[in-house]
Amino acid sequence: MRRIATGLVALVLTALVPLVSVAPAAESLLDKVKQRGEMIVGTKYDFPPMGFINKDTGQPDGFEVDLAREIAKELGVKVKFVQALSKTRIPLIVNGNVDLIVATMTHKREREAAIDFSIHYLITGQRPITRKDTGITHVSQLAGKRVGSVQGGNAGPNLLKVQPKAEIVQFQEHTETLLALKQKKVDALVTDDVLIQWMAKQDPSLAIVGKLYTVEPYGMGVRENDSKWRDAINHAFLEIWDTRRYHEIYHKWFGQAPEFEIPWYPK
Ligand code: GLU
Repeated sequence: MRRIATGLVALVLTALVPLVSVAPAAESLLDKVKQRGEMIVGTKYDFPPMGFINKDTGQPDGFEVDLAREIAKELGVKVKFVQALSKTRIPLIVNGNVDLIVATMTHKREREAAIDFSIHYLITGQRPITRKDTGITHVSQLAGKRVGSVQGGNAGPNLLKVQPKAEIVQFQEHTETLLALKQKKVDALVTDDVLIQWMAKQDPSLAIVGKLYTVEPYGMGVRENDSKWRDAINHAFLEIWDTRRYHEIYHKWFGQAPEFEIPWYPK
């Protein structure tokens, strides 16, 4: 009898626990990163001048790498870089492999289903680049042509909106796409203009095709529903902008001042 009674009490208690216990507030990544003393950031290794491997040092380098370093400095932690491809950026955040993604990621509403975005830190657009020998000067001439793009990026789908007759050929990395263009396996490639400009500067046998036909605001990716972490990233970024360190980094990689402002934001 006593055993039954004890069992009953246990049963009643178990049933009550979910009602009386208050779920502990989920720990923010801000606390975890500070405890760890290090922030893990996913950046591109194939996207100069945003993120690439510096041949002399063997280390990640570029605009987004410098920006991430400054953010880590603001937060008072070290920084470790992990390679992010266009197609792995969101899974890296969702699976908790990285704390932050700073990897040429356009802020799209559809991407908000899985992650959250910081304030926009750069704005660019898209257009193709070709070899001069193709004679292509306008997207209309890409009908029936093979055009390289990377998986997980929006450049292929965006081209199809302006030229549905293009044949999109997908690669993993931008370095492979560029190689395919040089080896005449594709007739053009398409990506963000920051990379297009860099490619054109590096190789005079390439030619930029036409005008920008999209607007690509870059946001940093953070995990969903961790506003303390997202606020910390936004505030660090705004501090870097306010103190003009942003402008120094921009000048270092683009040789000019940014042509955009971050006009209104809370102080
Ligand atoms: N900003 C583009 C995106 O987020 C990248 C385009 C590309 O990887 O070519 O999809």
